[in-house]
Amino acid sequence: EADAAGSNGSERGPPGHSMLAPFTSGTQQSDFHPLVIVRSEGVYVVDSEGKKYMDALAGLWSTALGGNEKRLVDAATRQLNLLPFYHSFWNRTTDPALKLAEELVDMFKPVKMAKVFFTNSGSEANDTQVKLVWYYNNHRGMPKKKKFIAREKAYHGSTLVTATLSGLPNLQKGFDLPEAFPYVLRAECPHYWRNHRPGESEEDYATRLADDLEKLILREDPETVAAFIAEPVMGAGGVMPPPATYFDKVQAVLKKYDILLIADEVVCAFGRLGAMFGCEKYNIKPDLVSLAKAITSAYAPLGAVLVSQKIWDEISAHSDKLGQFGHGFTYSGHPVSCAVALEAIRIYKEKKIDQYVAKVGPVWQEGMRAFEKSPIIAEIRGTGLIMAVEFGDKDPKKPFPGAWGTGAYFAAECAKQGLLVRVSGDIIMMSPILVVTEDELQEFIRMFGEALKITE
Ligand code: PLP
Repeated sequence: EADAAGSNGSERGPPGHSMLAPFTSGTQQSDFHPLVIVRSEGVYVVDSEGKKYMDALAGLWSTALGGNEKRLVDAATRQLNLLPFYHSFWNRTTDPALKLAEELVDMFKPVKMAKVFFTNSGSEANDTQVKLVWYYNNHRGMPKKKKFIAREKAYHGSTLVTATLSGLPNLQKGFDLPEAFPYVLRAECPHYWRNHRPGESEEDYATRLADDLEKLILREDPETVAAFIAEPVMGAGGVMPPPATYFDKVQAVLKKYDILLIADEVVCAFGRLGAMFGCEKYNIKPDLVSLAKAITSAYAPLGAVLVSQKIWDEISAHSDKLGQFGHGFTYSGHPVSCAVALEAIRIYKEKKIDQYVAKVGPVWQEGMRAFEKSPIIAEIRGTGLIMAVEFGDKDPKKPFPGAWGTGAYFAAECAKQGLLVRVSGDIIMMSPILVVTEDELQEFIRMFGEALKITE
């Protein structure tokens, strides 16, 4: 994702590897001292020198069930022994892929879903969304309806198209983006603390953003705007929960102009926010949904696109007009990944993971919010088991009172304490595993506080 290398604050590990690491520059590559993780155990990971860390980001917001859930290992092993691979192209597939599609359609309650398209990752899921939306509009005889609206600071992946949907410049710089894919319009990042005007309430701010969205659509011509893509809570861009009433107002605008809504649930789905899906929490009625990460608790790569009945009815009504949906990956619906996902979902349901997060999340959020009085912390935001701490002045218009590089310094102090956080500039992002215990969360808060004292 969109971090710089070395953000773990570690100086250890053998230099000079041949691996070209994601999100590193050439300079960082030539001085590549990765923190090598060799083992995991619940909420902890252990590095190659035996040091144990609490993993504050659950991998990359993904290892929802923690580091050693034997049932997932058994599910993978059973499937590997039975049928390690068969594809899902044309009219051939495997049992786990069929069952998982059934399960996902059944468990997504906010709207009626009809179909599931499997990918290997969240990026591929969102890339698939773009093709599906174009295919759908071409079917409807609306070939001009091609543009996507995505938000500043969104993260939707790093393929050519999804990097353009993403609103983070470091994904685009050096790749002729966003110009090379000129179908993306940009809406404001709904960050109330940073962007609200004096005296403007959260509701008023949401109204203004919805008005701006409508103006953008009218300026571009609604006949050319196909879809709006949004994470229910923005993740990699800095953890931004939506301001009150934001999604209600945005959805009303989209409906008015026949613009589809794609919910990118790659981070939020499967309990992270204290609801099974982010769409449930914010009353979002999407036409399409992207899933990945916690779908397998990251024990195997898998992504999925949920296609609503509304979209599917339209496509299937004219199924021969445009020919086949010519899209798919060798590993679409990989049976091992699907078997692991089925078991992960079984565990989420048994544990009532959404209710568990709704119970422990607020304890952690409240505990962490005590740090808001620190003179170097500008804002602490989050919900459920996702949170960001942003260093800076309490007034977003004023310059940061602390030293340059405070985020990286703090992250290194956390690592010394035994807490592995994610840092992006002056924002610290956290999303512990969903089965974290209350004691572990208290330990989390304690280590965070120790690192903060040293940083202040
Ligand atoms: N969408 C969101 C909201 C994400 O956070 C991510 C990854 O962090 C992606 C899409 C891309 O997923 P992947 O890294 O599996 O391609």
